[in-house]
Amino acid sequence: MKVLVLGTGAREHALVQALARDPEVSAIAAAPGNPGMADQAELLAVDPMDGPAVAALATTWGADLVVVGPEAPLVAGVADAVRAAGIDCFGPTGPAAQLEGSKAFAKDVMAEADVPTALAHVCRTDAEVEQALDALGAPHVVKDDGLAAGKGVVVTDDRAEALAHARACLAHGAAAGQVAQVVVEEFLDGPEVSLFCVTDGVSVVPLEPAQDFKRLLDGDAGPNTGGMGAYTPLPWAEPTLVEDVLARVAQPTVDAMARRGTPFAGLLYVGLAMTSRGPRVVEFNARFGDPETQVVLARLESPLGALLRAAATGTLADHPPLRWSDQAAVTVVLASPGYPVAPTTGGVLQGLDAAAAVPGASVLHAGTARRGDDVVSSGGRVLSVVGVGTTLDDARAVAYDALGRVELDGGQHRTDIAAAAALAQEVRA
Ligand code: AMP
Repeated sequence: MKVLVLGTGAREHALVQALARDPEVSAIAAAPGNPGMADQAELLAVDPMDGPAVAALATTWGADLVVVGPEAPLVAGVADAVRAAGIDCFGPTGPAAQLEGSKAFAKDVMAEADVPTALAHVCRTDAEVEQALDALGAPHVVKDDGLAAGKGVVVTDDRAEALAHARACLAHGAAAGQVAQVVVEEFLDGPEVSLFCVTDGVSVVPLEPAQDFKRLLDGDAGPNTGGMGAYTPLPWAEPTLVEDVLARVAQPTVDAMARRGTPFAGLLYVGLAMTSRGPRVVEFNARFGDPETQVVLARLESPLGALLRAAATGTLADHPPLRWSDQAAVTVVLASPGYPVAPTTGGVLQGLDAAAAVPGASVLHAGTARRGDDVVSSGGRVLSVVGVGTTLDDARAVAYDALGRVELDGGQHRTDIAAAAALAQEVRA
């Protein structure tokens, strides 16, 4: 099986690494990819947003399966273009990807499927926003309806800030020529969990749950980011978590999408808040999450190519149960100076080989580029360093040991990824 992975991030590097372990996968290409993948994948140039160009590339390269990493191409219908060319594709259709592309659409599907989530008001005017803010009270949660690359959500006690964000979202929607709408919702308290569910539109196979860290700084301080780290397993979670979320959230959502005539096949990412009243959905995404993918796939022992192909071809019901390593995995993200507001790029990275040589560590590239013989930073999030170990504490030690060997002027990383969970695991043991 020849597999083409679309995307450039550490998530896609993790996908490439896991596919390379699948004995049935004979060749991997990544488009556009990044320098870290070059050992395992052929790097091909393409604009991932250009459906016909991606389909043509997949055809000439001879791909048997295309895996779409990021959300924007999915919402733009790139998976549909690939399938129209007769090539199997892991990723939902454009209409089904609206589960991520529109928060109002997702809320509608959740209401129809009776999925537990935050109370929400979809607002189109300032007056509606003000009413919703007052009805729900502080802390206020205001979400851009459309894709905003992780920058669409504001959570604040400050009503004026919430209103200003809502106005900016409405203006942004109107400027993009869409129906301008913004979602104001109830604040959900409690730890967050990410559960990835592979589905062919009928059957649903959950992966192992993970937790990510969205804030820039230790102690969950500072601005929201694309994600600064993640770990799995979750020693503090109820043993029935996956079963419950499959029964109450993932399967009903997949069933509702099928009933609507827009079956969702691909990766349903369920973002949850574990509230005192039980799990509530915070968000759906239509693809693997970054950085959780880096740790979840580090523990997957079943062949990834076969799993994704089963989802793409509607044969998931026949897929054997997944096998998981009982080890722990922790990833810590190295970000550029100035991230997330105004990242400075172009800094030389040193120590990458020394980091990768740490037993149990892998260095996954995100925003990196080649400049002569050097690897330099080229984006906000630069690397995702993964550590695997017997316990979360061991995995943390591996990840931080490896990360400590990498040098990037002004590079930022959190020092507390999985620290509390490692303690919880020790107390339980
Ligand atoms: P989203 O883009 O919907 O995933 O939101 C990004 C982040 O904002 C989430 O991971 C949460 O940390 C936070 N968030 C979103 N919705 C809520 C909510 N209803 N209550 C509390 N925090 C939220």
